[in-house]
Amino acid sequence: KFDPREANKFRDFPLTEKTQKGCLELCKYKVPTVIQSKSLIPSLKGEDILGAAKTGSGKTLAFIIPILEKLFKLKWSSIDGVGALVLTPTRELAYQIFEVLRKVGKYHDFSAGLVIGGKEMNKESEFINNTNIIISTPGRLLHHMDQTPGFSVDNLQILVLDEADRMLDMGFQQDLNCILQNLPAHKQTLLYSATQTRSVKDLARLNMTNWVLLSDFELA
Ligand code: ADP
Ligand code: MG
Repeated sequence: KFDPREANKFRDFPLTEKTQKGCLELCKYKVPTVIQSKSLIPSLKGEDILGAAKTGSGKTLAFIIPILEKLFKLKWSSIDGVGALVLTPTRELAYQIFEVLRKVGKYHDFSAGLVIGGKEMNKESEFINNTNIIISTPGRLLHHMDQTPGFSVDNLQILVLDEADRMLDMGFQQDLNCILQNLPAHKQTLLYSATQTRSVKDLARLNMTNWVLLSDFELA
């Protein structure tokens, strides 16, 4: 039986072999960081997370692993469309997340795509509907929601708001609200930020009924 108090390696957690291999072989990670080990069990169980942990604490993997595990358990395939959406404030962050996903998700069969502008809308529009995991910036995603015919997020299972505090600081509140309104109500939400602010909590309150609060700042 799994006992979180005794789990201190990734292989102690109930993860699929594909994900374990991705963590170990490709990232060489054996031991989860604090935010990873605190969040993994609730997020694997499908709970919503409001997580605050400072930059460099390993938040990326804390949401990539639950995405992979959830879609795997649902036997998600190319015909199921967009199952996971990660929103992050900048293109650079989106690239970084994509790279982590490529490594850790190497042994899974999901398609993943960056939707961040800087290339033709048409190119993105061609693949966006056949992509299982989308990593995007808010403005660009909203653009596709408004303008790409047939773009559907009706099957979305899991939403990640990465650097939620920074997205709000950068003025994405309105875009985020519009996006959130277009997403199915029944889904898991993982919200991560580097700081704990009231506005982030308010954003979460809009869309999360029940959440687990994980904060580095309470430990300090
Ligand atoms: P954050 O999003 O919280 O700022 P990142 O997810 O970008 O943090 O991770 C910060 C750094 O820590 C990255 O270089 C990443 O490769 C590394 N890292 C993440 N998880 C682990 C781990 N379990 N063990 C060792 N290093 C890790
Ligand atoms: Mg990060």
